Amino acid sequence: MAAEKNFIEVIIDEDLAKGKNEKRVHTRFPPEPNGYLHIGHAKSICLNFGLAETFGGKCNLRFDDTNPVKEDIEYVESIQEDVKWLGFDWEDRLFYASDYFGRLYDFAVQLIREGKAYVDDQPVEVISSQRGTPTRPGEESPHRKRSVDENLELFEKMKKGEFEDGSCVLRARIDMASPNMHMRDPVLYRIKHAEHHRTGNDWCIYPMYDFAHGQSDFFEGITHSVCTLEFENHRPLYDWFVDQMASSEYRPRQIEFARLNLSYTVMSKRKLLQLVEEKLVKGWDDPRLPTISGLRRRGYTPESIRNFADTIGVTKVDGIIDVGLLEFSLREDLNRKAPRVMGVLDPLKLVITNYPEDKEEWMETINNPEDESMGVREIPFSREVFIEQGDFMEDPPGKYFRLAPGREVRLKSAYIIKCEEVIKDDSGRITEVHCSYDPETRSGGPQSNRKVKGTLHWVSARHAAEAEIRLYDRLFNTEVPDEAPEGEDFRFNLNADSLKVLKGFVEPGLKDSEAGTNVQFQRLGYFCVDPDSSDEKLVFNRTTTLRDSWAKKQK
Ligand code: ATP
Ligand code: MG
Repeated sequence: MAAEKNFIEVIIDEDLAKGKNEKRVHTRFPPEPNGYLHIGHAKSICLNFGLAETFGGKCNLRFDDTNPVKEDIEYVESIQEDVKWLGFDWEDRLFYASDYFGRLYDFAVQLIREGKAYVDDQPVEVISSQRGTPTRPGEESPHRKRSVDENLELFEKMKKGEFEDGSCVLRARIDMASPNMHMRDPVLYRIKHAEHHRTGNDWCIYPMYDFAHGQSDFFEGITHSVCTLEFENHRPLYDWFVDQMASSEYRPRQIEFARLNLSYTVMSKRKLLQLVEEKLVKGWDDPRLPTISGLRRRGYTPESIRNFADTIGVTKVDGIIDVGLLEFSLREDLNRKAPRVMGVLDPLKLVITNYPEDKEEWMETINNPEDESMGVREIPFSREVFIEQGDFMEDPPGKYFRLAPGREVRLKSAYIIKCEEVIKDDSGRITEVHCSYDPETRSGGPQSNRKVKGTLHWVSARHAAEAEIRLYDRLFNTEVPDEAPEGEDFRFNLNADSLKVLKGFVEPGLKDSEAGTNVQFQRLGYFCVDPDSSDEKLVFNRTTTLRDSWAKKQK
């Protein structure tokens, strides 16, 4: 928790000092179930649940499910899973705007009775063309002066399904000359003969988001309605609705903050859906996406995301956060948590010619130098091991400290070896490297501290488990993918090389690892076991490199 209070906490402090709303603090996270959650939502989740925690209040999870056409139960389920995974608990406070369809309908009828709403049967295009501009007042609808009785009758017919989609709407009667466009007789209800994932075919009229959102907060006793900046000028409308309903002092207070934007990615659900539907990625949980399910599959931990949200804080100014900051937070967490193991991604066979053929030894090695409580384990060593192709050069430049003809290196937690011979096939490609080992240099043995310049990771060929390794790069080539040339869109900036698949070998102890297990392959980066793994085949996702190699590449 950041030591300094953010501006929302300051506002809440003031409200509490004034004794507002019986000194309650009650927030909510209100997703629309029309897509999977992304890292931007995570910021909002951390903020809303975090505020409740800080002030000893409550936070609801509420689905703003007012648009049956775009919503789906799959999204409802994934959203709950993601919020839980992030470590938050809405206890028994799971709500749906659709729970309030009856109350919202009654409220609409109340507004009609009070002369504050009317049915307009002009086409929507006409209605929007009459809205005017911020500097030019709107035009009144010819139906604005309909009698209360006629409006009641028409609205009833709308509800009963007597009209077709789009043939009329219910509008509030507020002020067509208001400087705030949202106050110019906004649409409250539209006709949609569509099945809703929760209310089925009970309704064929659905409230607009703006007519449901603020009232839902009010119905739930929300005290602080935290939302993103684009809703700032909807606030007078939400307040107007609540004023028509409230019989006490209690009011939800809307507070806006800047949404999170991250470099090298897109965050709008519409665009994420497009990537999924056009199969430009493998699904909502593709590890290259900024979705929470994608980040989870990639190997992100809930703590790394929560720490990131804390670090960036909340502001009133839109900006773009460097995705490197998210990765930094991830490395910090994994450095403490991920056991160090050995895996070889680009294998080269190394034969230790003076090591007995049928011998094997189990070498003790430390699981995490950052945390001794994580203990030690044993890994098998034998005559043939795999090392990384990149750790051997036949004709190395001066400052090359890895293996080369005649040179010595240490095999981590095992022995010091010396390269004696290079074996090639007919085409001249190196197929094996033959070495000798010095038995005195066994890890922990008398000569084990002898100085050599390089230490290599390795796995015993006979014991190793085969693994598919998926290396990810940024999904987009440019910092702001939305900035595309004329006639193109964000897809123009997709990075064609964002996924590379390798066949490697990993130490045998990893064979039965569960999906989601985080490890550090020594010298290579952090990796995570993918759910595609089976008894036959292990699959790893590279979560991130050990250091910010991307930043270097850019210079
Ligand atoms: P998108 O614009 O990505 O489609 P949305 O705002 O339509 O998202 P909602 O389901 O309405 O998605 O969002 C639920 C909550 O999450 C809202 O309170 C919204 O303000 C917040 N939220 C959405 N995107 C971000 C973001 N990038 N940063 C912070 N909060 C966000
Ligand atoms: Mg929204």
